[in-house]
Parts: sequence; C-alpha cells; structure tokens
Amino acid sequence: MLKNIILMGPPGAGKGTQAKKLVTGFNLIHISTGDMFRDAIKAGTELGKLAQSYIERGDLVPDEVTIGIVKERLAQDDCAKGFLLDGFPRTIPQAEALSELSKEIKRPIDVVINIDCDKDELIRRISGRRVCKSCGAPYHVETMRPKVEGVCDLCGGELMQRKDDNKDALEVRLSHYVHDTKPLLDYYANLGLLKTYDGAMGSEKLFDELTKLIKGE
Ligand code: AMP
Repeated sequence: MLKNIILMGPPGAGKGTQAKKLVTGFNLIHISTGDMFRDAIKAGTELGKLAQSYIERGDLVPDEVTIGIVKERLAQDDCAKGFLLDGFPRTIPQAEALSELSKEIKRPIDVVINIDCDKDELIRRISGRRVCKSCGAPYHVETMRPKVEGVCDLCGGELMQRKDDNKDALEVRLSHYVHDTKPLLDYYANLGLLKTYDGAMGSEKLFDELTKLIKGE
C-alpha cells in the first residue's frame, strides 16, 4: 500500500472531497494547509491573523510560514502510519523543503496524485461550492445538495460559502496555480512520482481509481 501521499490540483478540482474519503478509507493523517489556516483564523491565533489577508485575496501565504506549520505537523508521531498532504506543496521552495524534511524524518513520499480539470468547470464548481461551518464537509448548490437546504447532512452544522470562493479571489488563486504550482508537476514527474487523473470523471469513479492506485492494484 502507498501511504505517504501528496494530492495536487487546481482549486475546485475535488482535492478536498477525495482527501476526506481517502483518509477515512485508508486511516491516513489528513494534512490540509488550507484547513490549518482556516482553523487558525477561527481561533484568532497569530498564525490566523497573518494568514487571513492572504487567503481572502486568494494569494499564497508566504513559504516560510507554510513550510513551518507542515514541518511541525509532519514530524509528529501519528504521521508514521501514513499521511495525505492536501494543498501542500504549492511552490517549488515548498516542494524542496518537503523533500529535505521527508528524508530527514525518514517518511518518503510514495506518490503524487494530480487531479486535472479545465478552467470553466473549476469556475462552475467553485462558484456553487458550499462547506459546513462546523465539520468542513463539502457541498455544491447543483451537484451535491444537502438533504435539508443550508444544513450539513453529517453534523447538522450550517453551510456557508468560503470567503475566497468569489470571482476576484478565484482569478488570483487560478493564476497562482498556473505560475507557482503547475511547475511542480514537472518536478514530481521527473522524480517518477506523478500520477494524473481527470477530475471530470466524477467523484465516485475517481475515488475508485485512487483507491486502486493506493492499494497497488
Ligand atoms: P485551500 O483550502 O487548499 O484551497 O487553501 C486555501 C488558501 O490557503 C489558499 O488560497 C492560500 O491562500 C492558503 N494556502 C493553503 N495552502 C497553501 C500553501 N501550501 N502555500 C501557500 N498558501 C496556502
């Protein structure tokens, strides 16, 4: 089984949805830098105060900050059973720092999963995306509606739209994806770690494909 996994893809490709199902199915530690920043903002910590303006504009939080929180989390004992990095790395310096760290702590990356998706579809998905305020479960106003309008099926929490899921921030996020994150695809392809999947195939089918990959089938 592959156990140390990076999940990549543009915003809206379905990383969060797949990540939640995969970490449950394979008992992996879910490390989402986006979730870590959103939790810090909610809790009003120094990290949250620093990250908030970057996130709301759609900009990337500076590398040294992001690398610092991942280093701390990845070195914890529970990550020995396997981890799924969701939304990290997003820049070449982050990938290089991760490469050094994973050698240092002897937790090598087994595979980099890239979920690909075209821009029109990303815009459609993100503009209709809703998330649960309490547990973070993802929904969509057309394709993944909750049983009761505005209420999370899983925990009964209130559904909301992320502040950075608006048109202006989305343009900025997509442009960071193209300029800062896409170069990582070559970086990981050269290391022989990259596996690319079409995000348009639908969430269930994609989950089946990823499950096979991780099981080594
Ligand atoms: P996500 O939930 O992965 O879409 O992340 C939401 C936002 O958090 C991003 O648009 C960035 O502002 C910030 N963020 C998350 N991960 C990173 C990262 N690896 N590097 C820099 N900023 C990040």
